[in-house]
Amino acid sequence: MATVGYSTAQRITQPGVKAFLASPVKKLLINNRWVDARSGRTFEIVDPTTEDVLARAAEGDAADVDAAVDAARTAFEGPWGRLPVAERARYLLRFAAAIEANLDELAELESLNNGQTLATAKAMITEGAVGALHFYAGSAVSIHGETPATDESFFNYSLREPIGVCAGIIPWNVPIPMAVWKIAPALAAGNTVIIKPAEQTPLTAVRLGELLLETGIPDGVVNIVTGFGPGAGSAIAEHPGIDKVAFTGSTEVGRSILRASTGNLKRVTLELGGKSPNVVFADANMAAAVPTALAGFSLNSGQICAAGTRILVQRDAHDEFVETLTRYAGGLTLGDPLDPASDMGPLSSKEQFERVTGYLDVGKAEGARATTGGSPADGRGYFVEPTVFVDVDNDMRIAREEIFGPVVSVIPFTDENDAVLQGNDTSYGLAAAVWTNDLGRAHRVARRLKAGSVWVNNYYTNDLSLPFGGYKQSGVGREHGSNWYEHYTEVKSVYVKL
Ligand code: ADP
Ligand code: MG
Repeated sequence: MATVGYSTAQRITQPGVKAFLASPVKKLLINNRWVDARSGRTFEIVDPTTEDVLARAAEGDAADVDAAVDAARTAFEGPWGRLPVAERARYLLRFAAAIEANLDELAELESLNNGQTLATAKAMITEGAVGALHFYAGSAVSIHGETPATDESFFNYSLREPIGVCAGIIPWNVPIPMAVWKIAPALAAGNTVIIKPAEQTPLTAVRLGELLLETGIPDGVVNIVTGFGPGAGSAIAEHPGIDKVAFTGSTEVGRSILRASTGNLKRVTLELGGKSPNVVFADANMAAAVPTALAGFSLNSGQICAAGTRILVQRDAHDEFVETLTRYAGGLTLGDPLDPASDMGPLSSKEQFERVTGYLDVGKAEGARATTGGSPADGRGYFVEPTVFVDVDNDMRIAREEIFGPVVSVIPFTDENDAVLQGNDTSYGLAAAVWTNDLGRAHRVARRLKAGSVWVNNYYTNDLSLPFGGYKQSGVGREHGSNWYEHYTEVKSVYVKL
């Protein structure tokens, strides 16, 4: 039902995408020039909908990271680090305008490379990327130190200064917003940056590099090094010339980045996995709770770190909830993500397809039952049906490990305390939701759930004015929020004797 019977070339509609893919080997952006990897090596980029090769990209490794660090360091020591905030912000606004002007093209390219639907791509680019550039352009002026009134014979104050060369290692699930979430705060605070996109989905990062050049940004301020995790990624994590790494990806790789950072004690922020509980009380507005729970594990084919993959439902409401959720999930249309009739595209890569289908087998072997889905779709493309597992115990692997696909476990609970205990019974703590019409209970449960974001009667809302990140093994530090610059600046205390 899901597979498309035509080639990638036949799917492309945007002239800009055709033009971009007409030069099929993408290079590294170092010091505002497009260059091959020093090794001359390249790797294949695959369209997950057709399994055709879309293009190739330069396989950057340690030697290319060295060159990027040199460029970023020179740029930082040049005027960039001392530019007035308003001038730095102007580049962010120009970048935002360039993204908006090329929205249709960027969304198509993102969808071709990553498999997300065009509607999802457009929403993510508009809210996640353009929105973030506007936020950071506006809040760059909010960076400030303190002037304590401690002693009249001194004038003491603190300064917030850029850290230096920052790097962003980013995942494949929402490539454009993830690149912007690393570029924008780094530049707003006066740092320079090196971006390493995921090897599965580097194309839109390369296109963003082209758009950045159109803004007139000075040489070396943003560098883009495509390549693999163990090559380019670990070279970044270990590099003595990089002052800060911001990483979004798996908890396992996050640990290795933290370990690798100890050489020069670089600053590290980590945005990692989740197994977020979506807690539904029997008194909830089910007309909103059920479709939102569906989106919570099927948007972007479930490949979102904050996905609500454990739905905890109060026992009295459990069976009816499962029946409705099953019907809605079974009604989703899998297909070509460029076709507006498709609700879900394929998973982003073959590895991901194998991982998710592996978990479908694990769930069945553990005694869980799929009320809908439970299998990959036949034929070409990495399509997996949305899957609802019941008869799940919170101790099963499918309830404990991050699957990163359209697979949800529904688990019953008895009362408020049981909901909180099961919700918190996880090594993760990225997000959680609570659905109830009881105001007191909503706030009590929101307080007790150990998660970096808690949604009450909604899911996935993201306000950049508030911090985003995880408790426990879901991360280190936070992104966004009014204190965002703590992670992109050093602080200096100055003591002046009067
Ligand atoms: P997944 O396993 O879901 O692909 P990863 O955490 O492996 O997620 O990937 C996220 C990003 O981390 C990618 O850009 C990837 O290349 C990078 N990466 C993978 N392994 C390492 C590593 N050892 N050091 C640094 N970066 C890595
Ligand atoms: Mg990996």
